[in-house]
Amino acid sequence: MKKKRILSAALALCMIFGSAAALPQGVFSESAGITASAEEEGDYVYAENGEGTVMITKYKGSGGAITLPPKLGGKTVTEIGMNLFYTIRANKTVTSIVIPNTVKQIDDSAFYACQALTSITIPSSVTTIGKYAFRNCTALTSITIPSSVTTIYDSSFDGCTALKTINVDSANASYSSYDGVLYNKAKTQYICCPAGKTSINIPGTLATVPGTKLKAAITSVTLNEGTKKLEKWAFINCKDMRSLTIPQSVTTIEEHAVGFCHLSGDLTDPDTPISSFIIYGYKGSAAETYARSNNITFKEIGTACSHSYGSPSWTWSGYTSATATFTCTKCSNKQTVNASITNAVTKAATCAATGVRTYTAKAAFGGTSYTNTKTERTAGTLLQRGRGTAIHRQVQSLPARIIHRTRSRSMHRR
Ligand SMILES: [Zn+2]
Repeated sequence: MKKKRILSAALALCMIFGSAAALPQGVFSESAGITASAEEEGDYVYAENGEGTVMITKYKGSGGAITLPPKLGGKTVTEIGMNLFYTIRANKTVTSIVIPNTVKQIDDSAFYACQALTSITIPSSVTTIGKYAFRNCTALTSITIPSSVTTIYDSSFDGCTALKTINVDSANASYSSYDGVLYNKAKTQYICCPAGKTSINIPGTLATVPGTKLKAAITSVTLNEGTKKLEKWAFINCKDMRSLTIPQSVTTIEEHAVGFCHLSGDLTDPDTPISSFIIYGYKGSAAETYARSNNITFKEIGTACSHSYGSPSWTWSGYTSATATFTCTKCSNKQTVNASITNAVTKAATCAATGVRTYTAKAAFGGTSYTNTKTERTAGTLLQRGRGTAIHRQVQSLPARIIHRTRSRSMHRR
């Protein structure tokens, strides 16, 4: 095998550019992990990254459809290093990449500027996808995040201008996808909207639409009942948006959240009103107040409902937490309240039978308190201990005072 020492990629690039400050933003970041020496096999340069495993640090092949090797130098490949395909200029030859299922980590900027890349297969061994990992992969249109990923960043797909869909395996415990946009599992936190997406349907579970995160390509936005707040500059990058329908549940609209844009896309641009912008909303709502105070045309789509909520539907998570969801019988507006939970033994366990512990969830809504209960069987004091019957017979023959002590002790041990 051909072996040679090479300078670290970081050092080589610094020499080319003269100084680190001249490097493209995001090319380097904290998880560099590139060692001063490396070895080569086939099209790849690699380096040890820990206990007998290796990371690929450079690709030197001629491009096309490539499958990264699961082993190099006889050692398992667990990591894709930074800037694998990026040297002085963007890589325009690699069209598809299959990552082997030995890889756990995709480092920051790993696939930076693979401009011909249209397909990437990420196996369910990968747990981390670094910052700017796919930055400026301008031909990529969709990507699927496997169930194993626990860390991914809003910058991971920065500059992927053709990317329209981020899919997430439904078994992933940390993340989910809705209308091609990446959210946390519960869809209560926004992570990343693909830069090539032109319309977005935001789920009502997202209480706050965050400021500045939505990309320039967005022209059409659908909000749903449940969303409560539009942060300052929520749609400031969306200069081609011409209207927004705001649901009744939105009660807070911060400064220039909608109807304004930054013309060049730079956050230091002045906030420019979008001409002829229309806000559709309910009479008497926060949307109407916002539109009128910002001289934006307001069109009424109805009068705000004087909600009428009945009894809630309950959702328990184990025995430790529960939520109550109230639905308006007139307009279907949903309000979800976290419950507080108490518990008590409602039927004591005996030697011969299990008992019952009752958990009570209590949620306050509209000045009324609502409760819901869930029961759990509790173990019998002796029978459940495995050697039940024999001990039970022995205990029966002991004096009362000793029986009491025996029971107390066994209960304490539970
Ligand atoms: Zn209503």
